[in-house]
Amino acid sequence: TTFRVSVRPVDLPTGGSVLVSFEDVTHAHQLVQMRRDFVANVSHELRTPLTALIGFIETLRGPARNDPAGQQRFLGIMEAEAHRMNRLVGDLLSLSRVEAEERVRPTSRLDLAELVLSTIQGLTPMAADNSVTLAHDLPEGRRVMVPGDEDQLRQVLTNLIENGIKYSGEGTTVTVRLTAPDYVPRLQGQGVTLVVEDSGAGIDPIHLPRLTERFYRVDNHRSREMGGTGLGLAIVKHIVNRHRGRLRIESEKGMGTRFTIILPVG
Ligand code: ADP
Repeated sequence: TTFRVSVRPVDLPTGGSVLVSFEDVTHAHQLVQMRRDFVANVSHELRTPLTALIGFIETLRGPARNDPAGQQRFLGIMEAEAHRMNRLVGDLLSLSRVEAEERVRPTSRLDLAELVLSTIQGLTPMAADNSVTLAHDLPEGRRVMVPGDEDQLRQVLTNLIENGIKYSGEGTTVTVRLTAPDYVPRLQGQGVTLVVEDSGAGIDPIHLPRLTERFYRVDNHRSREMGGTGLGLAIVKHIVNRHRGRLRIESEKGMGTRFTIILPVG
């Protein structure tokens, strides 16, 4: 805990005195520290691909000048590094946009069932490339209307499904379930429940409390190999907050991972 202590002289009818006040500035202190850490992290994350790019440019100018096959290989790596930077900047922009809007509740209504279906459709090629099956379990033939920002909720679904595809491993299934409260009597009055779960590698529970922190990765190497920025779940958390929803993460090593989001319906 951090206190700011101030001492002020005061004149009381009974004589001169001093007023000592203690102000708990722990939270403000933590915010400053978090901001500093964030800037340091961003700089590091941007510098890694930049250093690679500079190195390869020098190689192309020098040792690889007369090596066409080498040049093609290096250009491929440079392209991948440039894409990594682009993704990072895109995720940083998403994060700052969501944070800026966090206090403004979305008002337009959208059909979550349709959003789930179209998002799954868009990610089916990526799943196939990684030998992962996408499945869904939706209230049949029904719309599930919620107040929400369509682009942001699509991003939540995309980030969670892509993580399932990236980390659960070949031959696994990523399933999206949607439960509307008026469909299940015991859930009346509660929100819509959206679940994205996979049957894959799972996460050691010790990591779960920090999983939605910016740049927190369980397996750094795997995340980078799969093109991850380390910001996906931080973005998810902020979007869910903006929608006044709740996010729960359950996982067990080797048993898969389940993300549950409860969104208010009104
Ligand atoms: P990244 O860009 O690295 O994917 P995220 O914020 O989306 O960043 O996820 C943070 C970390 O959580 C990932 O690096 C990964 O280690 C772990 N993770 C996320 N989703 C899953 C999942 N479905 N199965 C296993 N690990 C996961």
